[in-house]
Amino acid sequence: MAKFGKQSQTNLDTCHKDLQTLCNEMIKEYDFSVVFGARSMAIQNALFLKGRELRPGEVGDRREHYVITNIKKVVTFRGFERKSNHNHYPSIAVDIIPYPSGWANQNKIYELAGFAKATYLKLKAEGKIESEMRFGSDWKNPADPPHIEIVT
Ligand SMILES: [Zn+2]
Repeated sequence: MAKFGKQSQTNLDTCHKDLQTLCNEMIKEYDFSVVFGARSMAIQNALFLKGRELRPGEVGDRREHYVITNIKKVVTFRGFERKSNHNHYPSIAVDIIPYPSGWANQNKIYELAGFAKATYLKLKAEGKIESEMRFGSDWKNPADPPHIEIVT
């Protein structure tokens, strides 16, 4: 049986209890890492700035002042203007990727997302999870397969 590494456990500890229940059930059968739970505003902003550049002449206090220079941008929201679901405490979103393949294998990331959804439906039916959840693997433009969030 797989077990979370120290960083994954620390990240998971920042998440809503239903996300913890889901991940703790999944890890029994499938090894994966929890890459993000709650994010501070400072970290959210740092991730926002990755892959973006300030438009000439702009001050940079608004999201629209930035142009995306790398399509693999990490996050959509800056935190200051609009919160990501990771900017709550406890976090109402979690990002997970398979271990050991990590970000390298996109198919495995989708496979893990499918396993997460199946496990969620099982736990929901058993009454062990109350929240409704949404899966970033279902989204298009941009798809976000590592991402799972609670519907509020
Ligand atoms: Zn996420």
